Amino acid sequence: MNIVLLGAPGSGKGTQASLITEKYGLPHISTGDMFRENIREKTPLGVLAQSYIDKGQLVPDDVTVKMVAERLSRDDCKKGFLLDGFPRTLSQAQALEKIVKVTCVLDIDVPLEKLLGRLTGRRCCEKCGESFHVSVIGNTEICPKCGGRLYTRADDNEATVQSRLDVYVSQTASLIDYYKEKGVLRRVNGDAPVNEVFAEAEKAMGI
Ligand code: AMP
Repeated sequence: MNIVLLGAPGSGKGTQASLITEKYGLPHISTGDMFRENIREKTPLGVLAQSYIDKGQLVPDDVTVKMVAERLSRDDCKKGFLLDGFPRTLSQAQALEKIVKVTCVLDIDVPLEKLLGRLTGRRCCEKCGESFHVSVIGNTEICPKCGGRLYTRADDNEATVQSRLDVYVSQTASLIDYYKEKGVLRRVNGDAPVNEVFAEAEKAMGI
């Protein structure tokens, strides 16, 4: 299972990625999480990535591809992996093809007009990394799953979200057709409760 999760920011990639990787014992490779870890640790990569992430822009392809290539070369990826948030450009998809064979690409489809509200109302847990929506959990600062502290991602403010959505439309959405032509694309309706999306995803991927 060499899986890629496509989908716009706020489509629920992270949530579905966690469910799939927990159930099937795959490494969950989220480029956004890798950048945020580097930002927390104040590495040179983190400093560079932050300047793009804060503006809602993509980190340059060469830097991102190098980081992913290193991660995929580790032993835990030999039996499969799930990429969450990579590739996001055609050039990243072409680079990935030279590293490994992707067996399944799952696109989580959510109408664009719903994404802004999903992202600006998102709260993430510092401890377990899970995310929730204020319309479901209310104004609590405590994670309903693990009791950790909830926070709002710096790039989930309205202005940055708008540029992230613009970047998705202009640079990432075309990957749907790219993978459709390769015959590996599966699509699920992401505008549904988490467990329903998960059930549909398992069915679509034939796992
Ligand atoms: P995410 O957590 O997937 O929403 O990613 C947060 C931010 O990290 C994005 O808005 C980009 O700035 C950066 N990022 C994540 N993945 C990539 C990627 N594949 N290519 C370039 N930038 C990325």
